[in-house]
Amino acid sequence: METMMKALRLNAPNDLEYCDVPVPEPGLNEVLCKVESTSICGTDPHIIGGDFPGFWPKDFPLIPGHEWAGEVTELGQNADLYGWKKGDRVAGIANMGCGFCKNCMEGRWTICLNYGKDKIHNMYGHITPGAYAQYIRVSIKSIAKIPDDMDYNLAACMDPLSIALHMVERSGIQAGDDVLVNGSGAQGLMAIICCKSLGAGRIFVTGSGRRLEQAAKLGAIPINYREENIAEVIMNATGGLGVKRVMECSGTANGIRQSWDVIARGGCISTISLPKEEVPVPIRKLVLDEIDFHGNRANPNTLEKAIVLANQHRGDLEQLVTHEFTMADYKKAFEIFNGRLDNSLKVIVKPNK
Ligand SMILES: [Zn+2]
Ligand SMILES: [Zn+2]
Repeated sequence: METMMKALRLNAPNDLEYCDVPVPEPGLNEVLCKVESTSICGTDPHIIGGDFPGFWPKDFPLIPGHEWAGEVTELGQNADLYGWKKGDRVAGIANMGCGFCKNCMEGRWTICLNYGKDKIHNMYGHITPGAYAQYIRVSIKSIAKIPDDMDYNLAACMDPLSIALHMVERSGIQAGDDVLVNGSGAQGLMAIICCKSLGAGRIFVTGSGRRLEQAAKLGAIPINYREENIAEVIMNATGGLGVKRVMECSGTANGIRQSWDVIARGGCISTISLPKEEVPVPIRKLVLDEIDFHGNRANPNTLEKAIVLANQHRGDLEQLVTHEFTMADYKKAFEIFNGRLDNSLKVIVKPNK
């Protein structure tokens, strides 16, 4: 076992260094994994750019990266008692709740009451060393096994897919419901796959350009927000009723406002968007039309389900993984991802290639 490994280490905002760091040692209820694929997340450039000072990361240096898949190579204390073995193929997620606070005990561990506390809470690639490295030390709470024949690049997308699934599940979607997926970035496209899987009726999707075309390929009804009035299109298509569920993943204040124009009476707006500005809630509509408005943080207990779903919809998901680079070539990888160049969606970095 080597003692040093290659990693991307963030020394200060915008100072990402490809360098040698010690291979970490797994502790109690942890394993060491060889990272085969890490997918660039939209949050990564913000973490690297220092957009969350003192929060993500809390301090420097940090190894970012939290959408990953790989193989278990070392077992920490007790990991074997939970059935983990060397050679297990796994997908990982960012969050790890403390496991003992009231929210964690209720299964809502992404809103752990001990969030950010050293030793008892982790968030890989945000405040805890992450997956832009040849190896990651990770809690067995933050990984799940993947099928033997599932590609690692696909498996590296289980973190975002399980986030989309949490948003879709929390919308209370029922078979046959008309849905609007607002936004056609990676999260929107993954939300479409989840909605299909859970039996949605018609799935409308907003966006423009290549990503909207991609959404249509997945079977959604495209609405180009640059050319069409979203509310008009949806109200016409639904006989003035609106859609029962909105999956809001535009990331913008405008997108959230639009959701209120198309939501049916008794419907639910479920969102993962974090717009920079505050958005007023139309409280009269919320009360008088009994609208549910759900915020969703990350992926509590949806990783295993997302893996099943991904396995059933491999063809759909494979279309979203557009690029692969070695980790040494990370500058190019981030350039392609950040600039949305070359029709990129999910861009994979290979730490061990
Ligand atoms: Zn992510
Ligand atoms: Zn907790």
